[in-house]
Amino acid sequence: MTVAAVAPRTPAAGAGLARGDRIVAVNGHPLRDAIDFQFHAGDERLELTVERDGVTGTKRLRRHGPGLGLELAPPRPGDITTCANKCVFCFIHQLPKGMRKSLYVKDDDFRLSFLHGNYITLSDLDEASFERIIEQRLSPLYISVHATDPELRYALLGRPRHSAEILPRLERLAKAGIRMHAQIVLCPDLNDGTHLERTVFELAPLHPHVSTTAIVPVGLTRHRERLPALRSLTADEARALVATVEGWQRRWLAELGSRFVFLADEIYLLADVPLPPAAAYEGFAIAEDGIGLVRKFEDGFHRSITRRRRVARAGALTVVTGALFAPRLRALLADSGSDPATIRVAAVPNDFFGPAIGVAGLLTGRDIQRHLAAQPDLGRAVLVPAVAVRDGDGIFLDDLTPADLARDLGVPVRVIQPTPSALLTAIRDS
Ligand code: SF4
Repeated sequence: MTVAAVAPRTPAAGAGLARGDRIVAVNGHPLRDAIDFQFHAGDERLELTVERDGVTGTKRLRRHGPGLGLELAPPRPGDITTCANKCVFCFIHQLPKGMRKSLYVKDDDFRLSFLHGNYITLSDLDEASFERIIEQRLSPLYISVHATDPELRYALLGRPRHSAEILPRLERLAKAGIRMHAQIVLCPDLNDGTHLERTVFELAPLHPHVSTTAIVPVGLTRHRERLPALRSLTADEARALVATVEGWQRRWLAELGSRFVFLADEIYLLADVPLPPAAAYEGFAIAEDGIGLVRKFEDGFHRSITRRRRVARAGALTVVTGALFAPRLRALLADSGSDPATIRVAAVPNDFFGPAIGVAGLLTGRDIQRHLAAQPDLGRAVLVPAVAVRDGDGIFLDDLTPADLARDLGVPVRVIQPTPSALLTAIRDS
């Protein structure tokens, strides 16, 4: 494992570790990956075998709290286990050619599931990996289920070479005490209706080991040449689904003590119905999957507003978001007393991926540039949500930078974290 960063005044810094060091063993245990490091580095006294400039040495650390002050480099693409599936809805298959390489990595790696919450299918998980998950208690894991009917799931996964039935695999992990979050990518006419009901009702007996089941809508881009015909959920279907899931949630809340099944924010926005209250998300365990993020943002926005006296200083500015969230953001800003002529919400259509993609996180720099260039006045600044740029280097999906955008538009562009206080502070200070 390569050290990516060492925080000052921490056990790692005190032991003399530095960026670029390779940690090859902890207390005599050789490391395969970051999970082995976490697993073996829990002791109070640690002896790290470290390589630096071709020389192997030992560093001794004493842990004073949960962190060591050490950041490990992420795995290289070649070290990641990739999937052998060809899911009919796979977003990666719907990317146009010529984008940066890392976007095409089809990871299906239980280590990334444990470390970062990536969803995995378990379809070709080998026995050694199963044993490792159980031995090292890699919990929770995030599992793409899609359907429990074996034949239907096999078809949804694109009829891969290996595709063991999902329920026995989940049962095995559940029996070993591994907690799981299940996900269903909902494809109208394929795994909805009675198929969805079967899937959810076959997963519920595995609660609490399967803690949650997330239903997310299929995302279809305009780049689907030679891919199976699929369609998006309609607004009427989304409304019917909300009603069905509310009924299931009431039942499981009574029977299991948890609502167990949760709908993606996108489904409520598409249905144009109120989002559930914060308590209905039961701690927001799967917010990263788009389940409850909007509720969290809206509640946080109202709390932040009551603490602030002034939302904006004089002069207009433009806040960028996706078409789906724009009406909610306009309503929030109106509630805060801001003048829509002063703080303009730009609902940027997604021309690159197509109109069915309405989230801010998949906007490209060029789509933002094109939409804003057609506006009569952008005001004193443009605020862009950080979800639209890549972590680390802050570049848009199409490799445009915020600086390119600012130069083209002739106004400052600020990248804003997607939190209410960051947005309100940027509106006040920009
Ligand atoms: S598991 Fe399916 S959706 Fe995920 S990367 Fe593989 S083919 Fe794509």
